[in-house]
Amino acid sequence: MTQTIALQINNQFAGPLKKGYPLISKDAVDTRKLPAEEGALLRLLDIHNRFIGTGYYGIQNKGIGWLLSTDANEEIDKTFFAKKIKKAVQNREVFFNNPDTTAFRVFNGEGDGIGGMTIDFFDGYYMVSWYSAGIYSFKEVIYEALSETVNFKAIYEKKRFDSKGQYIEQDDFVMGTPGEFPLIVKENGMNYAVHLNDGAMTGIFLDQRDVRFAIRERYSNAKTVLNTFSYTGAFSVAAALGGATKTTSVDVAKRSLAKTIEQFSVNQIDYEAQDIKVMDVFHYFKYAQRHQLKFDLVVLDPPSFARTKQITFSTAKDYPKLLKDAIEITEKNGIIVASTNNASFGMKKFKGFIDQAFKETNIRYKIVEEYGLPKDFRVPREHPEFNYLKVVFIQKLN
Ligand code: SAH
Repeated sequence: MTQTIALQINNQFAGPLKKGYPLISKDAVDTRKLPAEEGALLRLLDIHNRFIGTGYYGIQNKGIGWLLSTDANEEIDKTFFAKKIKKAVQNREVFFNNPDTTAFRVFNGEGDGIGGMTIDFFDGYYMVSWYSAGIYSFKEVIYEALSETVNFKAIYEKKRFDSKGQYIEQDDFVMGTPGEFPLIVKENGMNYAVHLNDGAMTGIFLDQRDVRFAIRERYSNAKTVLNTFSYTGAFSVAAALGGATKTTSVDVAKRSLAKTIEQFSVNQIDYEAQDIKVMDVFHYFKYAQRHQLKFDLVVLDPPSFARTKQITFSTAKDYPKLLKDAIEITEKNGIIVASTNNASFGMKKFKGFIDQAFKETNIRYKIVEEYGLPKDFRVPREHPEFNYLKVVFIQKLN
């Protein structure tokens, strides 16, 4: 039985929560009043003990939980979860009906009314990601609600909430008939190999769908393409299918070689005609400069933080330097696709990084396109700050 505790919200945070701001910040409460275990329901009250809403206790980044309802009479039970999931599914009707795209996000946490949990769809398979022990404590009713709401081949899960928010190595199968992997999903007609039970990542980041489409349709034909932090080479596949003369994929992780070969192969692209380098991106930049290599299209999609033996990289600090390295090896009139999923800063600051990098290299530029999260990654309507993805297509002018 889930316990419910009353919790007072500091004055400055009460107003936004009343209006539906979904995150309960650490600074909004007296954390000493929190129970020992995550998962309790929180009856949120203002300083006059008036009801604000019901949330749950689950630690995630700067939050101690999420608001679930501002209706004092609404029970947080299977009916509640089923209602939210059903609405989210209805909202993705165009995706479910599109045979060219069989992988997308069905439920995007706070954007669909339950922070701390996301659900992705992979051609009949559902994958639930849990971001705190608090929300995970509701898993039984949520799985009941989900399995009664959708037709599924199987459900898998990713737990992403140990002390560092890291994935916990586990068997990710939950229920249904286990799939065979790789599962081949479609995205705008391209094939992607996906593994749902093989570690933290599945092989494809679904939030970049529109960017991959743009790269294939408008930026690759007859171009040389460098894809840095390439992981399974998803951007390289889009570029190759868009007619790139050649793609070069660079990632420091050993697994990236086999994974990239797999993604090319399921699209009938001869991987031997492409370059796949397992190396540190920063070493690759030096190598390219030494050999005077230049590219028409350079994709930058680093993790928010990265540490290799020699280099620590943080997008919030080092993005201008990364851009300067990229500018050096981009052809005149070429395009740099600068991407970051770091939620700690917004588009304005990101564009500041871009401006700084070009100013410091004395090169003019033009922003030609911008992307945030795609439609299936729903963001709370009044709170665009939950749209963490920032992708800018920049043309190097001289
Ligand atoms: N662009 C990819 C996703 C990138 S995930 C896609 O579209 O699918 C981040 C990747 O950066 C990981 O695969 C990680 O191995 C790699 N990485 C981290 N630090 C790196 C470094 N210094 N050099 C090269 N790759 C790095």
